[in-house]
Amino acid sequence: MSASQAFIVTDHVCKSFGSHQVLRDVSTHFSTGEVTVIIGASGSGKSTLLRAINRLEPHDSGTITIDGVVVSDDTATLQKQRCEVGMVFQQFNLFGHLSVLDNITLAPRRVRHTARAEANAQAMVLLRRVGLQEHAHKYPWQLSGGQQQRVAIARALAMNPKVMLFDEPTSALDPEMVQEVLDVMRELAHGGMTMIVVTHEMGFAREVADRVLFFDQGCIAHDAPPEAFFGNPANDRIRAFIGRMG
Ligand code: ADP
Ligand code: MG
Repeated sequence: MSASQAFIVTDHVCKSFGSHQVLRDVSTHFSTGEVTVIIGASGSGKSTLLRAINRLEPHDSGTITIDGVVVSDDTATLQKQRCEVGMVFQQFNLFGHLSVLDNITLAPRRVRHTARAEANAQAMVLLRRVGLQEHAHKYPWQLSGGQQQRVAIARALAMNPKVMLFDEPTSALDPEMVQEVLDVMRELAHGGMTMIVVTHEMGFAREVADRVLFFDQGCIAHDAPPEAFFGNPANDRIRAFIGRMG
């Protein structure tokens, strides 16, 4: 992958919480149009890396660049980058007091100053895309977990991001709702979206990922295309992990 295609680059990124080093010298890149799946044991630093990319968690040393711009606390840069980077969390994090439509239009209206009618029209297009056009005027509590997560994806897409980060988007769902969310993500990937997906869904990784990263104790222990990653595991740790995840 050539450097010119690298949309996000992490260069020697380190992060500790107290004396616990959570990211150890993470150097990698995420290319435009590529789907990267990150797997690894709980506590290995996967969420911290996503949160550092979005500056929800400042890192200690090393640099992260998004589209050539270094991630920092500079307010204008931060706001621009937060628009470019959409994020979907395990727990959906919808605004409980807002309707589905208002959840989706809030950021475009507040941050981009999009007029309400236009924001609503864009939101309806997105709701159709995630199969929820009938639910625009409901509140999150009236929806299933799978529906709420699809709303959360639509909400992130409403800012027209250049990359989407997913942090275990199906881990909080009842099993029968996992597929409807993965289907939306698969569609997004086929549409060419640049995606970084932390997940335990090995089937999704095999089928949709261009690249699989295996995190182990704050390091990228392995980085391979899915065929090689799953077909010929690089070591016993990875083989055991894949075995546990099915
Ligand atoms: P993963 O997403 O791979 O499960 P995380 O990135 O969430 O791992 O966490 C990595 C390690 O950092 C864990 O040991 C976790 O307990 C610790 N950690 C994460 N966030 C914080 C925090 N805000 N304060 C202290 N420790 C944290
Ligand atoms: Mg996590």
